[in-house]
Amino acid sequence: MCEHPDEEGSHIDDSQETGKSSHKRNLSNGTPNGSPLRTSKRQKSTKNLKELSSDESEAEEDPKAAPTNAKQGKKAASKATSKAAKAVKGDPDEAEAKENKVPRRARKTKEEKEAESMPLAARTKGLRMFVGAHVSAAKGVFNSIHNSEHIGGNAIALFLKSQRKWDNPPCKITFGTSSIKHILPHGSYLVNLAVNDKAKAKQAYDSFLDDLRRCEALGIKLYNFHPSPEALTRLAAALTKALEETSTVIPVLETMCGHGNTIGGYFSEFKEILARIPEVHHSRIGICIDTCHSFAAGYDLVSPDGFKAFLSEFDEVIGLKYLRALHLNDSKTPFGSKRDLHANIGTGFLGLRAFHNVMNEPRFEDMPMVLETPIDEGKTGEDFGVWAREIKLLESLIGMDAEGEEFKALEAKLSAEGKETRKKQQALFDKKVEMEKKRRQKLAKEKGRRAYWI
Ligand SMILES: [Zn+2]
Ligand SMILES: [Zn+2]
Repeated sequence: MCEHPDEEGSHIDDSQETGKSSHKRNLSNGTPNGSPLRTSKRQKSTKNLKELSSDESEAEEDPKAAPTNAKQGKKAASKATSKAAKAVKGDPDEAEAKENKVPRRARKTKEEKEAESMPLAARTKGLRMFVGAHVSAAKGVFNSIHNSEHIGGNAIALFLKSQRKWDNPPCKITFGTSSIKHILPHGSYLVNLAVNDKAKAKQAYDSFLDDLRRCEALGIKLYNFHPSPEALTRLAAALTKALEETSTVIPVLETMCGHGNTIGGYFSEFKEILARIPEVHHSRIGICIDTCHSFAAGYDLVSPDGFKAFLSEFDEVIGLKYLRALHLNDSKTPFGSKRDLHANIGTGFLGLRAFHNVMNEPRFEDMPMVLETPIDEGKTGEDFGVWAREIKLLESLIGMDAEGEEFKALEAKLSAEGKETRKKQQALFDKKVEMEKKRRQKLAKEKGRRAYWI
């Protein structure tokens, strides 16, 4: 058990703001587990994505865990959703404080216990695309496997230690799972590898190295982190040192939204980082595309041609061999907005079409694809059913005809759900663009005036 009792334990949403978009919805149009495969024009080119990928997903499956029938599963799921939310959400210290005030609940009934252990969705077997979510690892990293299975995930992201403090006790167990390949821990938000201050740089580096070592001890191959703001050279130097001090784990740099001085919004920046790291280490460096971040940075992932060009540019500038993982998030803010606000799949400015592109891209096979979409409704707490439905929805897009009725109906339904939020965000964005335009005009005018007097 990884002993970090005050592990924050909640999912991540990279956004700085918690938008209140409606993401409580019914995605039952998504292919349910075990439903027959669709036949479509696109299927010929993408059907291999549906084929059995490895024995490991089979080996991991617990047949007893699946609901015996849809009705029972659904009923249990709604109960389990709220229970699970309570079990993993927030800070255990906070939970303890509350416990002191609220009288202890009566013992759980057998029925309640059964409902809690019932997964919200069974894992889909035999796919070549591995979709999951960033789940809680509260009270031990091993719990992330249970939490991922609970939502039918075939990939896992987690924090390896608390996000709120620098010192954490070591992990004492290994995952012991054969699907370790699709686990993608997320680095701490506290860590900035490129920070200039010496003491802060040491603290950040030590924490980063500690995480990499935790990965190696746990047998995890990939480790995702934000390239951090500030200097590219300092970031590359710290990364090189960490690569020298470890031997198997692959640090994976996440694409960012291009805001302010953040590194990682543009492919050229990854090229520059790689250029500063000795080639001998290049096989141990990866990149993770965050769909929301890259779209916000100004890469078109929506139109099929734009998506093709996006991947071609990635290949030309960085090299597709570096691509190791994806974060699947829709964007609450418009194209090129340089804002990091995640939306639920199909409801944001990316829309379902972008995710159809992603799920039918053979070059994304066998990589962890992780949802970081919002599941917190605020008042009602976290609804893990959102991820369970989004995983099934994404899986259902494999081989689906993007021109067919089924896709169009799904696309329209989800788009309608996010309409109000998009309208609001578009207005804010337009206002910002207008203000920026005026600011530039004013500056140019002043510059012109000064030039006249000189
Ligand atoms: Zn991230
Ligand atoms: Zn991300």
